[in-house]
Amino acid sequence: MAEKRDSKKKSANKAEKAVVKAAKRTAKKHPGVVVAIIVIVLVLIAVGVVLYLKVDKVHDAVNSLFAQNKAEVQNTVSAPPKANTYGDKDLSFHFLELGNNYTGDSTYIKAGDVDILIDAGSRQDSADAIGNYIDTYCTDGKLEYVIATHAHQDHIAGFTNTKSRAGVFKRYECGVIIDFALTNATSAVYTNYVAARDEEVAAGAKHYTAMDCAAERNGAQKTYVLGEGMSMTILYQRFYEETSGDENNYSVCVLFNHGDNYYLLTGDLEKEGEASLVENNALPEVKLFKAGHHGSYTASTDALLSVIKPQIVCVCCCAGAVEYTQNAENTFPSQAFIDRVAPYTTQVYVTTVGSVEYSTEKGKYVDVGFASMNGNITVLSSNGAVTVTCSNGNTLLKDTEWFQNNRTRPPAWAS
Ligand SMILES: [Zn+2]
Repeated sequence: MAEKRDSKKKSANKAEKAVVKAAKRTAKKHPGVVVAIIVIVLVLIAVGVVLYLKVDKVHDAVNSLFAQNKAEVQNTVSAPPKANTYGDKDLSFHFLELGNNYTGDSTYIKAGDVDILIDAGSRQDSADAIGNYIDTYCTDGKLEYVIATHAHQDHIAGFTNTKSRAGVFKRYECGVIIDFALTNATSAVYTNYVAARDEEVAAGAKHYTAMDCAAERNGAQKTYVLGEGMSMTILYQRFYEETSGDENNYSVCVLFNHGDNYYLLTGDLEKEGEASLVENNALPEVKLFKAGHHGSYTASTDALLSVIKPQIVCVCCCAGAVEYTQNAENTFPSQAFIDRVAPYTTQVYVTTVGSVEYSTEKGKYVDVGFASMNGNITVLSSNGAVTVTCSNGNTLLKDTEWFQNNRTRPPAWAS
């Protein structure tokens, strides 16, 4: 054992000596290595500084371009038009039931003799529900303006065609089509929307993006006069030219006016978009606000509501449906939305109500049916008077059975 230890010591000593020798050899070379390291570090620092300056310059340049662009847009949209007359024509907004239990948007607007459709519903068959409704009002088969707010299925499905069913673009002659400037969408419904839209453009429709309108470029207008005392303005918000991870923020925002009264529809715009809308426009108080994003807790924020102070709020949704969430409080119209809107008005109307059931097989709630809540909601502006008429009665949301069973009454709605 002792011998073995000695031999281990000897070999350890040999190894130590070898390391020392190697170290000395390196030490001799040391000056060269140090110089090389210093040179490399200096080069890296120099490259870093150059890149930093360049990035900073590019950043500055982009910022300044942006600032110019924004300033230009802000100057053109900051003051919404105001008319001193109501003319002799009516302006009406129709929030449509879509004939299924999926939440979705389609709003038909009749401005005197001008027909406008904003979005076309949740599924392809919504085109039937829309057609059945609007043909009573739009008797010449022409929609002067068609707006698609953003590329989600629940807003554009009814524009698309199938072999057996024509979508809205095919059913009507469309004058001006205005849609979202940006999208992250790659879905089949989006591709089909673009194909159907482009077919209509080939047939003679004019097509502008919301950014074209807000910046008044490519022949687009920011404000379209619809008749005496009536106009439609595409309001600028920054997600017409900045990308967002949330498709909803690309929503086209439209402000209508009739005489001294205003009506605001913001698609599914979320809180970031609402903040930009408030920042970039001198928004007026409005008679009507289409609840942001179907009454989601993520939209209709205080930042927007405190400026527009809506008197009537219409929610396009299938109340309580679990299509998007199992959290009962967050189903449309959400408790948070109700709490925020309640201080401004009790006049909240909802198109449709869903029925849900717990499925033991699936281990969660499922949608099993739907019925009209207020049904098709019509808001009519006639010579300064604004009235609401619903196809299934004018019961306010706060007085519905669904509300009483599913929501907590906010203090402002104390009965
Ligand atoms: Zn939606």
